[in-house]
Order: sequence, then structure tokens, then C-alpha cells
Amino acid sequence: MNDTTAPVHAPVEGFPHQDGELLIGGLPLSRLAARVGQTPFYAYDRALITRRVERLRAHLPEGVRLHYAVKANPMPALVAHLASRVDGLDVASSGELKTALDTGADPAEISFAGPGKRAEELHQAVAAGILVNLESFREVPFLARASRDLGLPARVAVRVNPDFELKSSGMKMGGGPKPFGVDAEEVPELLRAIGKAGLAFEGFHLFAGSQNLRAEAIIEAQRQCFDLALRLAEHAPAPVRSLNLGGGFGIPYFPGERPLDPAPIGEHLAALVTRAARDLPEARLILELGRYLVGEAGVYVCRVLDRKTSRGHPFLVTDGGLHHHLAASGNFGQIIRKNYPVVIGNRMDVAERETASVVGPLCTPLDLLADRLALPPAAPGDLVVIHQSGAYGHSASPERFLGHPPALEVLV
Ligand SMILES: *Cc1c(COP(=O)(O)O)cnc(C)c1O
Repeated sequence: MNDTTAPVHAPVEGFPHQDGELLIGGLPLSRLAARVGQTPFYAYDRALITRRVERLRAHLPEGVRLHYAVKANPMPALVAHLASRVDGLDVASSGELKTALDTGADPAEISFAGPGKRAEELHQAVAAGILVNLESFREVPFLARASRDLGLPARVAVRVNPDFELKSSGMKMGGGPKPFGVDAEEVPELLRAIGKAGLAFEGFHLFAGSQNLRAEAIIEAQRQCFDLALRLAEHAPAPVRSLNLGGGFGIPYFPGERPLDPAPIGEHLAALVTRAARDLPEARLILELGRYLVGEAGVYVCRVLDRKTSRGHPFLVTDGGLHHHLAASGNFGQIIRKNYPVVIGNRMDVAERETASVVGPLCTPLDLLADRLALPPAAPGDLVVIHQSGAYGHSASPERFLGHPPALEVLV
């Protein structure tokens, strides 16, 4: 059967193969697995991360700063690798703040967002000298208090919940009622409170949503975010120095999805830089990206333990599963379960295909890593590789569920 109209996965770039073995960071997969000393593991290719940053920067106008959202992948070695290649780090907890500071990144270029910041975290943020993205009136007195107690300025930007949504984004994080940020219509009042409390106002943060593959939708959101910031700036107690337009750049995970083209986004940002020079002359424009920078550089590798046939259908039972990679199982915010790109990493030369499912060792039908996918016939000992696993993998999975051993992470 050869159905050419069925949607297929976009080709995954940067992982060639040699003698039937997938190469990861130039190493044959079996050798890498031996070096790691166990399966399952995550491997992130540092050269691919570097290349992604360089390619994106080639499209960005001068004057747009690139931040990494640590939430996407907080592995310390990876964050350190990125810290010297981007202009700033965005954190969302005191744990991520520690990781960011440990890299030696300039605290002036670290920002802290999150809908429920604890008083101690706000105190830590002021002590560290980072920028806090205010998301509630409640944070104002805590920051004023920390500033007084420490004798340091409390640097703040206001995270705005816009009055529009990011169209066609996988996860909406702005527009309508949201726990994130402060509703645009309440921002003038918050700006007065910031002025009164003596906080050091620096600008605005807008984040409309995540995992968008349509350049036009991202451009439209950025234009609307810029216009909204311009309107709100009239109420600000100080000039806008920092305007974080969020990100939302997606990567192709599922059959039929195509990579995002950053070129038109870069062109539009150049126009915004020109407008900013006139209307917000002190403002730096910032993009904060997570998955776009790291998602495609990562793989998850597990080993086939057993091959079972149930009523004619082959199941590859592996030592890895949803406890390490919740997103690939379809349980991390997806509405309909779809397959990530999966290959048998030590049978790259095999042309024959069978329709098989890849499952994990957990006693739940949710533990499904690939559902009826065309794969080379595989046997116990073979290595299953899940691509597009560099973001929201290891740290976004319920590792302790069912008590199996943890996965390791390596940067190669
Ligand atoms: C999660 C998050 C990001 C990163 O989103 P990606 O889809 O990984 O790019 C950026 N900014 C904020 C505020 C976030 O919450």
C-alpha cells in the first residue's frame, strides 16, 4: 500500500546515519548508548543548538535581543551552553533562577515570570538584581519590602494579558480570562501602584501563546503586542526600556506539520525596530524562545525489551515510556494523540517496514510512544529513538510514576 496523500513527518535535520546507525553529535547511536552506560537517555546535540541560534539570528534585525526560556529544557549544561549564545535567560522559578545564575549569565539580563511567585522568590529576585515580570498587584508590596530590606532597586516589567489571542497557537497563554499577567485594562492602575511603591519600572512583557507554526500569526501577534505596549506606555511611571514580545515559535512534531519560516518574522521585526526607535526610543525589543532553540536538537533513546504480537499486531515493549517522555505519549496538552517522529536508530539502512506500536513498561494504556507507525521490523536490544525531544521532555514528565529507574541526560 502506497498512500501518497497521507500526511508524513517533516524530515528531521542534523541526524545523518552511517552503517545503519543514527549519528548523534557525530557518534554512532550504539556507541553513544555504551558511553552513557544505560538506556533510556536524552541526548542533546550542542552543535545543532548553536546552529539553530546562528540561523535564527541571521534573520533577526540588529536591536532585537534573543532570550532563552529555561522552562523548555533546564538541563544545567545545556543552559550554560545557550547562556553564552543568547542575550538573556528567562526563568519561572527559584530553581530555574539558580540554574541561570550558575551559568555566570549577567543577572541584568535574566527575567523572572510566573503566575504564583512566592514572597521568598521575589526577595531572592531583588537580591539577585534580575528583572521581575509582575503578574499580580499582590507582588507589588512584597517587592517594595524586599527593595527596602535589601537596599536594592526592585526592577520590574509588567506582564500584560493582552485583549487578543495568538491565532493557531498550540497553547494559548494570553487573551480572555487567564491566570498569566495582568489584564491589559487593569495595567494603568498597576502602573500607578508601581510608581507609588517606588519600584524600578523597566517595561512590558507580552506572551500570547506557544507552538505556533504560522509566521503570519506570529507577526500579527507581535504587531498587536507592540501597539498595546505603546498605548500602555502612556501610563508608565518611567520610559519603557525593555519590551519583551514573547515568542511562540513552534517546531514540527506531527505528520503534516511544516517548519516555521523565520524570514518574514525577521522582516516584520525590522519594521518594529524602526517604529520603536521613534515611539519608544529607550526600548530594547526582546524575543523569548524555548522549544524553537532546543526542541529539534534533542532525542530520547530507549531499548526494546520485548516484542509481542497481540492478535496479529506487533508491540515493541521498551525500557522507556511516558514517565520519561510524557509529551511523546500525547499526554502533555495535546487534544488528539499523534505520533512524534520515531525511528529504530540501529536499523537506519533497513528498507522493509511493518506497522508496529511502541509502548513503555508502565501498566497503563497511556504509555504509548508510537501508535501504529511504519517501522523497520525491530527486536529486543534495538534502540528506539524519538526525535523532537529537546524541549518539554525530561523535566516535563512524571518520572516517579510506577517507580522505574530515571532517564539520564547528556549534552553531546
Ligand atoms: C513557556 C514560556 C516560554 C517558552 O515557550 P516555548 O513554546 O517553549 O517557546 C516563553 N515565555 C513564557 C512566559 C513562557 O511561559
